[in-house]
Amino acid sequence: MKMLEMIKNEIVNAFLFDGDFIYAEPFGCGHINATYAVYFRRETKPPVRYILQAVNTAIFTDPQGLMENILGVTSHLRKKILEQGGDAQRETLTLIPTRNGNLLYEDSEGGFWRSYHFIENATCHQSVDRPVLFTNAAKAFGHFQKLLADYPADTLHETIAGFHNTVDRYALFEKAVAEDKAGRAASVEKEVRFFLDRKADGAVVVDAIAKGQLPLRVTHNDTKLNNIMMDNDTDEGICVIDLDTVMPGSVLYDFGDSIRFGASTADEDERDLSLVSMDLELFEAYTAGFLSEAGSSLTAEEIRLLPFSAKLLTLECGMRFLTDYLNGDTYFRIHREHQNLDRCRTQMKLVADMEYKMEDMHKIVAKYV
Ligand code: ATP
Ligand code: MG
Ligand code: MG
Repeated sequence: MKMLEMIKNEIVNAFLFDGDFIYAEPFGCGHINATYAVYFRRETKPPVRYILQAVNTAIFTDPQGLMENILGVTSHLRKKILEQGGDAQRETLTLIPTRNGNLLYEDSEGGFWRSYHFIENATCHQSVDRPVLFTNAAKAFGHFQKLLADYPADTLHETIAGFHNTVDRYALFEKAVAEDKAGRAASVEKEVRFFLDRKADGAVVVDAIAKGQLPLRVTHNDTKLNNIMMDNDTDEGICVIDLDTVMPGSVLYDFGDSIRFGASTADEDERDLSLVSMDLELFEAYTAGFLSEAGSSLTAEEIRLLPFSAKLLTLECGMRFLTDYLNGDTYFRIHREHQNLDRCRTQMKLVADMEYKMEDMHKIVAKYV
């Protein structure tokens, strides 16, 4: 409650909010930042609320750079949306500046705050309870990609260095195996071998970007269902939110990661591996939605690598779980012993299943280009 006091006494006065403060409450289901809704009463207009967020500076150590990314990307989106006659306050995030004209307010205890216009009559769904939500999520991320296709991605800050650099991730993995800090390497030889056998895959996208064979693009890097606001009346994905991890990268990172967790038939830490597979119908639902929006802005090489990207991102994720398991579970929070090994194994099962279904995935992609 101390935070709510601080919001009331200090933070709300720092931003260009319209009206008189009524109250603030914790809002939404985010896990990274602290998110609040703040409510204001106005003389002649209806009351209004805003989103207020304390940026998690333990994860994002350069909040200023992060905000520059968000401002750059949302300004670009706003221009495009207005050109197309859209409602920019609904279809992209709109930052509320501070009274001093900044994007961040540093509070008296060193916390960093930002505010957004509140997108009303829309919901962040936590799970795909209807398949249409998955297709609509794909369309929204595809649309985001299309509108940003001409954005100079190399001007973005890399807010988390080497986020999807699979070559570096392999190096960290091999280091963890060699150091064997938790004394677990001997017990996971089969798993270690699985990733080492696929080391060449780890270099494909990184090398292609370096050689200019794949374009550097604005990537979202957290393409979960609950990072899209969906219209309460139509279920359409209207706005991509949570832009903290926007960075220069490859469109393949976002597509592949969406398939990795969105098309899987089981939880990420499922212990019964017979339940774990990559559902081709879900793959098709996402691919259809994504390509209907982004298809025309992608290069032939990007399209060719879409099925591979699902495997690559799953490989990367599984290897990160195994790396953390070898290091003694210092990065991914665990709720039971060996959970990171269980997570690694589901990803391995998915990789194997994707290898088996690779041709089918190519056929599906070909249907929608
Ligand atoms: P994550 O755990 O996904 O990284 P996060 O902590 O980074 O989340 P956000 O996703 O930015 O936080 O926001 C948390 C929640 O707040 C969203 O899921 C959504 O419900 C709500 N929210 C964020 N921005 C807005 C907005 N502009 N309008 C309405 N609701 C919003
Ligand atoms: Mg979020
Ligand atoms: Mg986030």
